[in-house]
Amino acid sequence: AARSEPPRIWRLEESVVNRIAAGEVVQRPSSAVKELVENSLDAGATSISVVVKDGGLKLIQVSDNGHGIRHEDLPILCERHTTSKLSTFEDLQTIKSMGFRGEALASMTYVGHVTVTTITEGQLHGYRVSYRDGVMEHEPRPCAAVKGTQIMVENLFYNMIARRKNLQNSNDDYPKIVDLISRFAIHYINVSFSCRKHGAKRADVHTVSAISSLEAIRNVYGVTVARDLMEITLSDDNPARSVFNMNGFISNANYIAKKTTMVLFINDRLVECTALKRAIEVVYSATLPKASKPFIYMSIKLPPEHVDVNIHPTKREVSLLNQESIVDSIQNAIESKLMSSNTTRTFLSQA
Ligand code: ADP
Ligand code: MG
Repeated sequence: AARSEPPRIWRLEESVVNRIAAGEVVQRPSSAVKELVENSLDAGATSISVVVKDGGLKLIQVSDNGHGIRHEDLPILCERHTTSKLSTFEDLQTIKSMGFRGEALASMTYVGHVTVTTITEGQLHGYRVSYRDGVMEHEPRPCAAVKGTQIMVENLFYNMIARRKNLQNSNDDYPKIVDLISRFAIHYINVSFSCRKHGAKRADVHTVSAISSLEAIRNVYGVTVARDLMEITLSDDNPARSVFNMNGFISNANYIAKKTTMVLFINDRLVECTALKRAIEVVYSATLPKASKPFIYMSIKLPPEHVDVNIHPTKREVSLLNQESIVDSIQNAIESKLMSSNTTRTFLSQA
């Protein structure tokens, strides 16, 4: 019998490697929007506006009034692993910016067409340049610009047939994008956000700088949600456990919804934490069975060295040192808050 020879191993071309990696960083239009908005926040913007066409497949445009990008950095802006935020691996332990991998813009150029318009302080004009597969398509062209940066991503996934089809068939990503901007808007209360469909007169999210998160929640999620919220705070500085503090708003017995809304920021990053969400749902079902799908906005601050932000390319989930004990104390705090508010209610209605 013919002996079967092992297949040869070869090196993938860089462009193939990059496109594969890009598909992981930018999973769908809403993940591109998240990366772009995070870049605007990292650039110190106080105003961020998002325009979307065809659920983001045709166009995503994010404009900000941040610090802009230097002319001399434009040639490498969209190369993989180019960043202004991190230089040594150790920096990751204390990093405050949301970005650090230098992969987001690069990824977008491998799966879409990216055009950047930017102007830095004190310049008379800005520059505009388009990118494909990590590189500039032409020299940056001088253009009129207002303070900050505008990034346009067109024809996302034009070269990934299956992904594009899937996204076209599934409900479009626009509601996810609106949801994302709403979440950012209630945490970054000093930043004004807007999000609209291309050509629409009205924005679907529109916030101006608010004085409190509660006011921001009222602006974004409406009076009926804000009315049924209670403030919660917790600081745990028992050195035997982890040092952390938490504050936010949680819904009371009057808030009835079909599903839980959990808006979670850990060290000012919008993240998900399944364990924490579950734990909170458990408390609600046990304490307020009729209002068991809560609205939660929570901001947790931990020493940066207690948070590992580098467990996933999208930075969606983070892992926490002493996660169990943090989840436990938050669960307890919510439980006592709900119990005491429930008693007050009963008491009031009996009076
Ligand atoms: P990262 O955010 O991880 O550094 P990105 O690919 O998202 O990587 O961005 C690369 C670099 O481009 C950033 O480090 C930043 O210097 C610059 N940049 C991106 N977007 C903006 C923006 N909106 N305003 C100013 N600079 C930006
Ligand atoms: Mg980034």
